[in-house]
Amino acid sequence: MSNAEYDVVIVGAGIVGATLACALADSGLRMALIEARVPARTWPADSRDLRVSAITPGSMRVLHALGVWRNVVAQRAQPFHAMQVWDATGDGAIHFDSADIDADSLGYIVENRVLQHALLERAERHTNIEWRCPESVTAVEFGDAQTTVATAAGHTLRARLVVGADGPDSGIRALAGIATHGWAYAQSALVANVKTARPHQDTAGQRFLPGGPLAFLPLTDGYSAVVWTLPTAEAERLRALDEAAFARELETALESRLGRVEQVGSRACFPLRLLWAEHTVQARLALIGDAAHTVHPLAGQGLNLGIMDAAVLAEVITDARARRKDIGALSILRRYERWRKTDVLATGAALEGLHRLFGSSLAPVHWARNAGLTLTDALTPLKTLIMRHAAGVAGDLPRLAQL
Ligand SMILES: Cc1cc2nc3c(=O)[nH]c(=O)nc-3n(C[C@H](O)[C@H](O)[C@H](O)COP(=O)(O)OP(=O)(O)OC[C@H]3O[C@@H](n4cnc5c(N)ncnc54)[C@H](O)[C@@H]3O)c2cc1C
Repeated sequence: MSNAEYDVVIVGAGIVGATLACALADSGLRMALIEARVPARTWPADSRDLRVSAITPGSMRVLHALGVWRNVVAQRAQPFHAMQVWDATGDGAIHFDSADIDADSLGYIVENRVLQHALLERAERHTNIEWRCPESVTAVEFGDAQTTVATAAGHTLRARLVVGADGPDSGIRALAGIATHGWAYAQSALVANVKTARPHQDTAGQRFLPGGPLAFLPLTDGYSAVVWTLPTAEAERLRALDEAAFARELETALESRLGRVEQVGSRACFPLRLLWAEHTVQARLALIGDAAHTVHPLAGQGLNLGIMDAAVLAEVITDARARRKDIGALSILRRYERWRKTDVLATGAALEGLHRLFGSSLAPVHWARNAGLTLTDALTPLKTLIMRHAAGVAGDLPRLAQL
């Protein structure tokens, strides 16, 4: 049984919690990074993580500033230079190209375990970050000057600030009594890594089908990651099909744009939901990442929002420390909440709008969305604005995301 004192205790070392630890590494603050599950640290060279994420240029800037990005690219990551979005119920389509925003790429597709490993490797080099894994937080008590965290192994940790980076089912959020809003979508995302006969040409694709969007994300060596949103029963049916039958259904859904689907590995389904916490801060507590907001994966923004949360919170804490302020005071933490609110709300609302627009089976809505896609494609300034937002390089950026 230990009894230890810290400045910051981060609960959850998923990509978002690990990003925060790295972003605070040079601050001199004494931190504990607590993770319940032992993360994958090695894997066979020819295996691929089923969980992949589209990482925006804004997030890449943060990861680059933390000295992590080079390591990610050295392991395995695939840039995409263009994106094609089209509607299955009409001829509306939109094409995005990195040249439209003078960027080298629209982003990279990265395996989650590769990114998490690179961050943890970085965090481990700092002696002011104590890595506590496997360890699970079971109770939290908020005091005036400190928060006390209890773990399943019977340890007690005290900190001036506790950060809940413990995902959509955040126990820290529940223990703090913070209410959530949102709903389940009755949809699941079916994911798989497949090999196709035609090359993806570094282009991501998204086809809006009546049951939900089907995204094709380019991976290295001619592979593509599929993220196929479907009504949950349909997703489970497709997951259970044998490889040949699944490949046929996928090819049809994709209008054979990448030719024959030649190889299908394992598949998994993730139920989808929308969730946001009523507050993301209170005295001695901040929530970041999915613990603060969980969004539909249709535009690949959830993790990118979380990485930006971590960058902003690190800046707020570092600035407060430089001014010798209490880093866990509500007045300090409110700056983080205010700063992130606009981006998180705007992104959440845009994703929900897209989900409803493309989920509607009403004929006038079909017409309007097809016309809207084609019109937006033709309006260069509007398209550029959308792209800069989606790339995470617009708005009030934290220092880590500035060039
Ligand atoms: C199918 C799918 C595709 C997606 N694609 C994209 C994409 O392309 N781009 C994108 O930006 N986003 C994407 N997302 C969203 C993205 O995956 C999430 O937003 C992101 O993983 C959230 O990261 P996190 O670190 O906040 O939470 P998590 O990854 O859930 O990490 C939380 C961590 O906390 C730990 N933990 C929990 N409770 C405790 C406890 N009591 N004590 C100690 N540790 C604890 C857990 O073990 C876990 O490691 C996708 C989501 C899905 C479902």
